Amino acid sequence: MPKKKSWEVVELPLFGKDGCKLVVCQLNIIPELIEAEFESASRVYLINNPTDKPSHRGQHVHLQPSDGSPINVELMYCITGTATAVLHSANGCEEIQLDSPTKALLIRDGWHDIVVNPGGILVVIASTDYNPDSDSNDKPCNCS
Ligand SMILES: [Zn+2]
Repeated sequence: MPKKKSWEVVELPLFGKDGCKLVVCQLNIIPELIEAEFESASRVYLINNPTDKPSHRGQHVHLQPSDGSPINVELMYCITGTATAVLHSANGCEEIQLDSPTKALLIRDGWHDIVVNPGGILVVIASTDYNPDSDSNDKPCNCS
């Protein structure tokens, strides 16, 4: 079986009525999340940047916890404003713009620096409880 991608973009369903938009994020119907065995959420948090400077979050990779429990998988998207995801893995590195409430990023074992731009609000849905012991700041590639 091929190794699962370290990250991928997931399009969330959008419904509209009278110019008002409804974005649905039901974990157990999104194929990429079913494949990641991420069908229910342990945590949801927001990163709100009301300042005039970009805010960097993450700058780490989630590792398999030493007790054998599942790796933390996260799904994130901007409900307003924008963020830039700077992603690194042993198989490649890239930047992805999160610039729409329907454009979500699923991160498995990719190193990520999430830059929330001024005025941005990022929603993060996490599959496990908070456990900083299973995060590593070391990049899995040769980028500086
Ligand atoms: Zn890299």
